[in-house]
Amino acid sequence: MKSRFKAVLIRKDNDKQTVDDVELTPADLMDGDVTVAVSHSTVNYKDGLALTGRSPIVRKFPMIPGIDLAGVVEESSHPHFKAGDPVVLNGFGLSEVHYGGYAELARVKGDWLVPLPKEFTPAQAMAIGTAGYTAMLCVLALEDAGVSPAKGAVVVTGAAGGVGSVAVALLARLGYRVIASTGRPEESDYLKALGATEIVPRAELSGEPRMLGKERWIGAVDSVGSKTLANVIASTSYGGAVAACGLAQGLDLPTSVAPFILRGISLLGIDSVQMPKPRRIQAWNRLARDLDVAKLASMTHTIPLSGVRKAAEDILAGKVRGRLVVEI
Ligand code: NDP
Repeated sequence: MKSRFKAVLIRKDNDKQTVDDVELTPADLMDGDVTVAVSHSTVNYKDGLALTGRSPIVRKFPMIPGIDLAGVVEESSHPHFKAGDPVVLNGFGLSEVHYGGYAELARVKGDWLVPLPKEFTPAQAMAIGTAGYTAMLCVLALEDAGVSPAKGAVVVTGAAGGVGSVAVALLARLGYRVIASTGRPEESDYLKALGATEIVPRAELSGEPRMLGKERWIGAVDSVGSKTLANVIASTSYGGAVAACGLAQGLDLPTSVAPFILRGISLLGIDSVQMPKPRRIQAWNRLARDLDVAKLASMTHTIPLSGVRKAAEDILAGKVRGRLVVEI
């Protein structure tokens, strides 16, 4: 094991947050029963919030950010993991209360780790990251609610973002007619290449919500929240379901009970962070089966660890297309 390793560290002094490149020793790491040599991480929207301090994601300072990591086990006293095992970790308090993935070493609880499916390299696992794993959780929730390609189209909001891009690719591969909503018309060809058959301008859904609208889709993956989610709900067909996972437009939800009591639709809340392990393993196995890795490559850019601060600003400004992998 390295005696010193590189990391990004967030500190807070007198309410002022700073982000620095530092060198630490294994003794600086937090408690855990598995030490991982981290080869890759990623920048999700939540990482953008943590690095910029724009939302109180980090609850313990100093903190190594990075909600995701992939790499190889260096040392383990956990019964399910041994040195040399490739692993992936999403969420579970990383970058909130436990040191995360923007470091060459991480010490974590083995109970948080998922064995890396053999279909993916660590870089591909981070191209998926929390965003892609959450997209899969949304798809699983829609399936559990009875949504299927035979029943109608599915809309994906924030489609050119991370959750959105993976959701479009997954749903298209599963045979759905995918309607992609984006504020970036220049990304229409990108979204069609991922499998979208129709592009809806963001403005069509982000304005003042209606109580009920024309029935347009049987299911939805929404990473935007707020008025967009309200309009998505209002246009969901009878008996359909909406998986809500994000807040890119806002935390509010200005809707009414009308779509629920008149059309029997379901609103499915998706949380990836504390999702129990069996569902995580199911999601990763389904990603291995249902995600086209060529499409994954087409939505991914790779940056060095030194690039995460700039990437954080970019993702919050809605300038990142698809997914960012961080090479540690
Ligand atoms: P991205 O920034 O990659 O994607 C968000 C997308 O939303 C943007 O690309 C943009 O898509 C759209 N968007 C941005 N701002 C607005 C706005 N003001 N109004 C409408 N649309 C907007 O982020 P991620 O994919 O990483 O995450 C998406 C959301 O999901 C975030 O809110 C994140 O916190 C949440 N999330 C939640 C998880 C959970 O466990 N519940 C897990 C993972 C993510 P376009 O340009 O195509 O319009």
